[in-house]
Amino acid sequence: MATATLTIDLDALAANWHALDSLATCETAAVVKADGYGLGADRVARALYAAGTRRFFVALAEEGAALRAALGPEPEINVFSGHMPGDAEILAEMALTPMLNSLDQMLRHFEHLPGAPFGVQLDTGMNRLGMEPAEWDAVRDIALEQNPTLLMSHLACADDPEHPMNPQQLATFRAMTDGLDVPRSLAATGGILLGDDYHFDLTRPGIGLYGGLPFIDAAPVAAIDIPVIQIREVAPGETVGYGNTWTAPRPSRIATLSAGYADGILRAMGPQAYVYAGEHRCKIVGRISMDLIGVDITDAPDIPDTVELLGRHQSVDTLADAAGTIGYEILTSLGARYARHVLAS
Ligand SMILES: *Cc1c(COP(=O)(O)O)cnc(C)c1O
Repeated sequence: MATATLTIDLDALAANWHALDSLATCETAAVVKADGYGLGADRVARALYAAGTRRFFVALAEEGAALRAALGPEPEINVFSGHMPGDAEILAEMALTPMLNSLDQMLRHFEHLPGAPFGVQLDTGMNRLGMEPAEWDAVRDIALEQNPTLLMSHLACADDPEHPMNPQQLATFRAMTDGLDVPRSLAATGGILLGDDYHFDLTRPGIGLYGGLPFIDAAPVAAIDIPVIQIREVAPGETVGYGNTWTAPRPSRIATLSAGYADGILRAMGPQAYVYAGEHRCKIVGRISMDLIGVDITDAPDIPDTVELLGRHQSVDTLADAAGTIGYEILTSLGARYARHVLAS
């Protein structure tokens, strides 16, 4: 079989949730948007539910509906994008809680689903989603009369603990919500690591659950192993791959791997990236193609049947660095073609 394998370690996922949960005394939810950061929202959410998670966040109502079908009636499912035109039926039928982002959304919600649960997302400086302080001032009393389940905001720079934006957003969030008798949430993974002041009543980790920075202590959740299709000997001066971007400086042994950018192995990472043949680190040489990658295995002690791209030797963040991106993008780019295996005790 030439198909590359994506192994998803659900025990490591659960361990990461427990580890993040133990860093705060409040409730810990889980963010499973974008198909559980590319790893499969159904299986990820069911494993987290078994580990004790009772609140989930998704980006879209449609993601929430699929999650409700997978998890049954008990857990609370919150939708970051709020109540969009046409969402009333799916929100009501699937018992989803929208995080209302604007006066428009609030009026829509109260008109179409009076009495249905909702939270409010506040903008404390990121300028992405949520009501700004002046808007919130104007509608706060009306919103509070309808008993919101949560007041939340999101930090723009929480991956950098020294960033002045963190205390600035914290102060804005406090100014907008202090003294109101509604549960509050400000922290995602990065915010959990900033300490107690940022935790409030509920944290909302995503990337840390899946093994990514800024949660340095995360256990790896995703592993990728790629079969070798062919081995060839290349003489000095010969080239490998499209565009002749790599020329052999010495007699070289090249392995051709059965995966490529169609699998989310970003073409941009090529010149900086490595794979592992057993314990041996091997450089990717030449351009990454759609379905194939060349690797220099000249110095490997054995000829491998498969190599490791992600796993024990290499994290999503190492790969991300090679492509000039972040672990989040590596995970959510993984293609549909992998043979997906699940590890669970
Ligand atoms: C994606 C997201 C999260 C989770 O963030 P991580 O950095 O992955 O922990 C939490 N809150 C909001 C609003 C988000 O968009």
